[in-house]
Amino acid sequence: MARKTVKQRNKELAKDGVQLHHYGFKMRAIATPEQLEKMYQFAGCARFAYNFYLNEKQEVYRKTGETLKYGEFKKAFNGLKDHPEFLWLKQTDKFVLECGMEQVEDAFDRFFKGQNKYPKFKSKHNSKQSFSTKSTNGNIKLDVENNQVKLPKIGWVKVKFSKKQRKLYQENGFNAQIKGATVSIHSSGQVHISMKLEEVIPMKQETDWSSISDDQIIGCDLGLTHFLIDSNGNKIDNPRYLKNDLYKLAKLQRQLKNKIKGSSNYKKLQKKIAKLHLKISNTRKDFLHQQSRKLVNENQVIVLEDLNVRGLIKNKKLARSISDVSWSMFVAFVSYKANWDGKKVVLIDRFFASSKQCNSCKSKNTLLSLSNRIWVCPNCGTEHDRDENSAKNIKEEGIRILQNLP
Ligand SMILES: [Zn+2]
Repeated sequence: MARKTVKQRNKELAKDGVQLHHYGFKMRAIATPEQLEKMYQFAGCARFAYNFYLNEKQEVYRKTGETLKYGEFKKAFNGLKDHPEFLWLKQTDKFVLECGMEQVEDAFDRFFKGQNKYPKFKSKHNSKQSFSTKSTNGNIKLDVENNQVKLPKIGWVKVKFSKKQRKLYQENGFNAQIKGATVSIHSSGQVHISMKLEEVIPMKQETDWSSISDDQIIGCDLGLTHFLIDSNGNKIDNPRYLKNDLYKLAKLQRQLKNKIKGSSNYKKLQKKIAKLHLKISNTRKDFLHQQSRKLVNENQVIVLEDLNVRGLIKNKKLARSISDVSWSMFVAFVSYKANWDGKKVVLIDRFFASSKQCNSCKSKNTLLSLSNRIWVCPNCGTEHDRDENSAKNIKEEGIRILQNLP
């Protein structure tokens, strides 16, 4: 019997006025040395399954021009596990291996949709090692009261729940069903467990977006001088504290060059660098979470540029700042938060001439260069802040798209 897709299940649930809601629950874990060792082993198994399948897929394609189907490969792979040479794969639960192979499928899906680069092999030297597993017969458990999480073949692992997670649990009593878990081990030694949860919630009302009033729509220009400028003229600065950490990081990396590779000092420094990397990535994420939450709370419709960041990064000078402010991550955060709250994100074409068009008279100022922060429209004489004018144009383009929605 084929399992029902989320779409099919939602269709059935709609009769009762409810729908499925998927979300994650991520916690810092405090694993014992034995647990950590197992986690590394499981990550190794997942990596093996991933690499093995990716290699097979490539080989089959190279030899026959055909695509190796996941179902076929899975059968063959299960047979492989009984081979004496591969018995070690049995130390983990079978879902870890399945999830590893499914990641290859996902990676190819995203690649063909143009969202990702061609799937790469995983190395045990990657700064993050991870594995995922699926829930069956209560093999994964979440115990908020006793600060622990149960994982198959690993047992109860101590975790730290956030205040927010506790609140959610207290208010909700936790009606969610656990669908799976992912364990990530960072090279700094930090372990995170993230649970995939599914909950049945009241159906979200469909909104008629085309009739929404103007003041509930906001346009945002993501920039370099400021992180964000909206169509109301509000400006959010880039987080300065990141700069200090990035400076520190560069210094440590220079120091690393002078150490003997493999020496204890080298390793110590390496760990320090990995820790700082993690700190930078966390502070950046916090900033993006805060800003995206605020934007979604305060508006019904959010219009953003569909940024092709990869295209922009080719310009070396801009690269650092762009990756620092992580626009693409921000767009992703805003999108999923809006989706969660039943709000709307409109992404507009990045080739839309948002900065050069005068928002007052709609004429185009082709002489405008990237360095002109303030400019006066040669046609109507309006003085513009470049980014604010962009944000206004982005908002208008968003309204135009909303009104033409099917
Ligand atoms: Zn004008």
